[in-house]
Amino acid sequence: MKTSEILNKYQFHIKKKFGQNFLTSDYILSSIVNAAELNENVGVIEIGPGLGALTNYIAKHAKKVLCYEIDTDLLPILEDTLSEYDNVKIINQDILEADVNRDIEKYLPDCQEIYVIANLPYYITTPILLTLLERVSRIKKYIVMMQLEVANRLAGKTKTKEYNSLSIAIQYRATVKKVLNVPRNVFIPAPNVDSAVLEIKTYDKQQYFPKKEWFFFDVVRSAFAQRRKTLINNLINRFGPKKEIYEDILKEINLKTTVRSEELSIDDFVRLSDLLLDKLSSKELIDIVDEFGLPTGKIISRGDNTSRGEYTKIVMAVIKSNDEFLIQKRSNYKINYPGIWALTGGAVLSGEENLDAIKREIKEELNLSCLDIRLDKTVKSINQIRYFYTVEVDKNEPIILDFEEVSEAKWINVNDLKKYRLSFFKDDYKYLIEYFGLEK
Ligand code: SAM
Repeated sequence: MKTSEILNKYQFHIKKKFGQNFLTSDYILSSIVNAAELNENVGVIEIGPGLGALTNYIAKHAKKVLCYEIDTDLLPILEDTLSEYDNVKIINQDILEADVNRDIEKYLPDCQEIYVIANLPYYITTPILLTLLERVSRIKKYIVMMQLEVANRLAGKTKTKEYNSLSIAIQYRATVKKVLNVPRNVFIPAPNVDSAVLEIKTYDKQQYFPKKEWFFFDVVRSAFAQRRKTLINNLINRFGPKKEIYEDILKEINLKTTVRSEELSIDDFVRLSDLLLDKLSSKELIDIVDEFGLPTGKIISRGDNTSRGEYTKIVMAVIKSNDEFLIQKRSNYKINYPGIWALTGGAVLSGEENLDAIKREIKEELNLSCLDIRLDKTVKSINQIRYFYTVEVDKNEPIILDFEEVSEAKWINVNDLKKYRLSFFKDDYKYLIEYFGLEK
């Protein structure tokens, strides 16, 4: 059946919010599947089967297909369009919330190799790829369609204008090759951008060994923060003002001090981040931790706050009245833990008091005002202190989200907490269980 016929038959209304652009060209569908070079030992994961067009081709050539589809309305259609196959399993779930490692064990146990083939929902292409590459090491190959511009970035080579932190994040773990350019007119509805299919093959063995991976990625992200600036100026913005530190390091790795970030290979970035980490490990330095208490970098402490022994602290704020409290979903733009549920939180800025930090964070992320703030618990570890507070807010105020930080926020009842368990940030969940005296 043709795409338009299926849409008519089921009176299906296309949902823009799920990035639904259905492929109509048999030539493109077969080219994608041919590029994967499937055989009867391969298990394929497909993200967003849609009406099942690509799934049909995959199911013919792979041992099994495991699909994640977020849109419940598509399930009866898929049951129909894929009825002739007994090797397809559809899971009705957001891929970013799925436990893919567990699902591979459960549904693809007898597959020797695992590939991903997908016409990805474009609004979350990078979180999907970064999350799977980092967490699901069994996936050996990805044949994935995405927006042309994103494809060019991911495949971007050193010294080109497409090369940036995203190119490095992917090429740190895999080789990337463009397989096919795809015009916009082979989709219903036609997107307003052209597309491309990439082959992403993960390395058999790890290729790069920075001393601290999180610090390496922090350096890479910071290096490309402002395109117009030189590498050194970007590093100064992130790690502190002592220019000589960076100049010495660049000389040591044979780079000009005026070098721009796009001129550095991944190996150069590994050397740079290792040397910077050593230099920053002196007494002068303070840790920066992200809102979950994970270290994301170090900064050189400035004279005005060393006397107070400043280092960045974390505030977790529970906002509740009676049994209701607010949970928020981390934006999919976040590199760390995109799309998971958590409590409201943030870092205390240098020189700032905890209470001011709480008020600021709650205003910035949710646009709410605080009525009452109480400290509940302090958790100390090597490089952070995390304070858990109860914060009461004016519940009648409308929540206005900062979408770069938070994609969704909800008031929930304590009794509903367990429903969120699997997609909740682990430490926050543990704290809430304790806080409300719930059984594990
Ligand atoms: N594979 C179909 C095709 O090529 O015609 C559909 C591709 S369409 C670009 C993207 C698909 O991903 C849609 O079916 C959409 O509902 C689904 N989707 C969007 N967000 C998703 C998510 N977070 N998890 C799983 N599926 C998602």
